Amino acid sequence: MSTEVARGLILRVTDYKEAHRLLTVLLESGEKRTVLARRARQKNSPLAAATQLLTYGELTLFRYRGTCTLDAAATIEQFLPLRADVERLALGCYFAELAEQLSEGDTASPELLPLVLNALYALGQQTAPTGQIKAAFELRLMAMMGFAPRLEDCAVCGREMPEGPCLDLREGLLCCAGCCSGEAARSALCQGSLAAMRYVLDCPARRLYAFRLEADALGRMEEACEAFLLAQLDRSFRTLTYYHQIRSE
Ligand SMILES: [Zn+2]
Repeated sequence: MSTEVARGLILRVTDYKEAHRLLTVLLESGEKRTVLARRARQKNSPLAAATQLLTYGELTLFRYRGTCTLDAAATIEQFLPLRADVERLALGCYFAELAEQLSEGDTASPELLPLVLNALYALGQQTAPTGQIKAAFELRLMAMMGFAPRLEDCAVCGREMPEGPCLDLREGLLCCAGCCSGEAARSALCQGSLAAMRYVLDCPARRLYAFRLEADALGRMEEACEAFLLAQLDRSFRTLTYYHQIRSE
């Protein structure tokens, strides 16, 4: 039996039995924990508000025989502006699904929670275009999890500014259009999108969204970051499909 108080972000909420909620929580340590919130769906439950998806709070957790139960929860941040916009909310849910997927087992990193919180805040406050936040988040997340692409120079000829730069999605390597060979899946970049992606890999965390790109270059960056993430993780995301559906409507 033990009680602990920890800060965490709710990445997933599932209804459980008559009135309970089962939460997937990302803690400050980077650990992902399943937490039972008893009677959280009952009217007037003190846990109702603080156990909603994408809520960041201070959680009092009680552990007994392998089950972790939520005793009390105080909301720190609900990201209200994010909830008012269906497209941005869908993107926030995608960020949560990515964090859930990438906080499995030994990949846990204490940098993960701040990365997700800052992304949700940036989305809510619109500190940068939505597509830019998405691309920068995806790329920085991949780097944090050990999947950083190598963007310093062309992997074949060594040129720092490749002509017609392309990203090999599987190998995570940069090359010039003329240096690429074979059938490898690639995403075309340009000087602007390449510079922005290099920036995202190197900048301080708090400056992650503080860059500007022309619409064309941003479009290429968005395409490359998403395609790279999907190629590296080799799976699809329900929330990403939903986000694209909403955007196309
Ligand atoms: Zn080259």
